[in-house]
Amino acid sequence: MVKANYEYSQNLLGTIVSLTIYEANETAVKAVFATLKILEDKLTVNRPLSEVMSINMAAGKHAVEVSRPVFDLIAQALQISLQPNCYFNCAIGALVKLWQIGFKGQQVPTDEQIKQHLLLTNPRDIELNTDNHSIFLKRKGMQIDLGAIAKGYIADVIKEVLVKHNIHQAMINLGGNVLTIGDSPLSDDKNWHVGLKKPFSRNQELVGIINVNNRSVVTSGIYERFFYQHNHLYHHILNPFTGYPLDNELESVTIISKSSLEGDIYSTILYGLGVSKGCEFLQRHSNLAAIFLLKNKTIVLANTDNFYFQLLDKQYQVKQY
Ligand code: AMP
Ligand code: MG
Repeated sequence: MVKANYEYSQNLLGTIVSLTIYEANETAVKAVFATLKILEDKLTVNRPLSEVMSINMAAGKHAVEVSRPVFDLIAQALQISLQPNCYFNCAIGALVKLWQIGFKGQQVPTDEQIKQHLLLTNPRDIELNTDNHSIFLKRKGMQIDLGAIAKGYIADVIKEVLVKHNIHQAMINLGGNVLTIGDSPLSDDKNWHVGLKKPFSRNQELVGIINVNNRSVVTSGIYERFFYQHNHLYHHILNPFTGYPLDNELESVTIISKSSLEGDIYSTILYGLGVSKGCEFLQRHSNLAAIFLLKNKTIVLANTDNFYFQLLDKQYQVKQY
């Protein structure tokens, strides 16, 4: 029997958040949206008040005590940012705010401004105190930005909330960051069907369908936030070493993984690595699968054990790594 689905959506996290479940459960739905709101209020850097913003405002002055989840998430983000040659850097906030990509005031900064702001993005200047869960940014003007991982982290927390309420089949969509829980009750093969967006498409066209089961599907794409100046596209995934938007052959990278936090971290990192280095990395990380979408309309699939990709747009050519 095909179950009825119940869909709920709200404008949160700067996007449309939606939840699909298959049994009416108002208590669970309320708990999910309340949790989303609480986490957004703690983690956002797009409003003056949040726990992360209070750390940023105190940069160069004093340490700020934060709640346990915020401390733990920043500790994890810092650990990754400190890995050698890592394209993910949670201390990149000053540069993100300088460019303002996707926000009012977006602009191409001068080389000098970039140089100055790069000095404010060293993750070694983030000091964690595990005794009182306080965080200190050593330089004035430094800013933590969790934009590349917050949705992934939040999706995993929402999964816990649903499971606590005895919901074992659901889909959470945080504006393109999708987490599927359990099997899909809607299809014979029990897979969830997650659309892979066609970059820059005005009418939400899809390049293909990702069929997965009990997995997170997270995409980092240059079409999510960008602007043009003098015919050059500037997008929101910055190269933490140069301070400019990453410039490579990719339009997007999708990571299929168990945890959505992991998917979110590695969608950003693999975007930075590009196809060739990204595929080498994936050979050593069989728990992660990826779909690379190239500007030349090639789609490269890596580690395909946990998903099946169905091409819809015949302009694209699919290759298996
Ligand atoms: P995502 O879409 O997950 O790749 O995250 C992109 C967002 O993360 C941007 O909008 C910025 O807020 C932030 N960001 C940009 N570049 C980086 C970077 N190299 N490392 C960490 N966060 C970044
Ligand atoms: Mg990410």
